Amino acid sequence: MKGNLRHIILLLLILAGHSARPQMESPSPKAHTKSLILMGSAFGFTVVHEDDSLAWAAINAGIAEVERITKVISSWDPTSQTSEINRQAGISFVQVDQELYDLIFRAKKVSELTDGAFDISFAAADRIWKFDGSMTEIPDSARVAASVRKIDWHKVVLRQENGFDVFLQEEGMKIGFGAIGKGYAANRARKVMEAMGVKNGLVNAGGDLICWGQQADGKPWQIGIADPKDRSRVEAWLDVSGLAVVTSGDYERFAMLNGRRYAHIIDPRTGWPASGLQSVTVICKDAEVADALATAVFVMGKSKGLALVNQLMGVEAILVDEKGEFFTSELIKLNYYSQTQPGGKPEWQAEIGVKK
Ligand code: AMP
Ligand code: MG
Repeated sequence: MKGNLRHIILLLLILAGHSARPQMESPSPKAHTKSLILMGSAFGFTVVHEDDSLAWAAINAGIAEVERITKVISSWDPTSQTSEINRQAGISFVQVDQELYDLIFRAKKVSELTDGAFDISFAAADRIWKFDGSMTEIPDSARVAASVRKIDWHKVVLRQENGFDVFLQEEGMKIGFGAIGKGYAANRARKVMEAMGVKNGLVNAGGDLICWGQQADGKPWQIGIADPKDRSRVEAWLDVSGLAVVTSGDYERFAMLNGRRYAHIIDPRTGWPASGLQSVTVICKDAEVADALATAVFVMGKSKGLALVNQLMGVEAILVDEKGEFFTSELIKLNYYSQTQPGGKPEWQAEIGVKK
């Protein structure tokens, strides 16, 4: 990796959502975009379509789908099925919708794949760690150690008899979908919008995105890789049509304690926030998988995380370590052009290779 890369940090920039294009003749496809807060994060929906009313109907259907999912998976909403599972920890099985059961089933698969780095039962530790700025002291290590004993995805038990049941085996256990819910929601919103005839669109679920088809000008969807010193300056573009791009990082939610930055991603083995990386971006076809893997790789760290990604077909990643140095999985190439091109064109170009 070239030295200059050290000073570049990843930023997800969506081209088309922001590039309202002048309309020449109609009907020609145009971008319709709506941004709003869902799941506590900034979401954006973009539909490229010549029919305005269809585009807005699809966007509203996508929003409704995310709202529906939030009601099922939120651990803040006391009326959600997830909250009921948490209340019944150590007490009894809770009957849930198949949708939630299946999501937990898939989450456990990711735990297995990542050796427990991804674990929805991390949430036992969220009673200690607050990443909303309210924490002022480093928590007591005995309390942290006690919370770890309540984290174990093997003890999230699924049973299918007359219905779909979930049981957290120990009192004090808790599950949360913070690391996978937005990806799942993005996938679902896309499905709903596609079913309505949207062939070109993008869902940005709080920085976790999935896009399909193309932009209004016929170009592929792209993400930008930006210079941290000037985040408006894009260093390299990457075509990501048909793909999900999800970033886990320590920049959005964190706690500053004794001058140190603690990321909101917990290492389930220790109960302490994971350290070593600034951000992990995972690119693959499925936003839920990308979401879960980005969090897992953040916990696993550079070498183990990259080794895992390199084993997975169709999954690529870009990692930025604490020093700001870039590392990519085998098939992502960030090409450096030694000359700055005229007209302020990027010096960098990124591309995803093709698996042999
Ligand atoms: P993400 O931004 O997708 O990496 O998700 C981070 C969020 O996932 C945190 O705010 C927590 O809600 C949750 N989380 C933290 N650590 C873990 C972990 N090891 N496994 C699963 N979820 C986690
Ligand atoms: Mg995630």
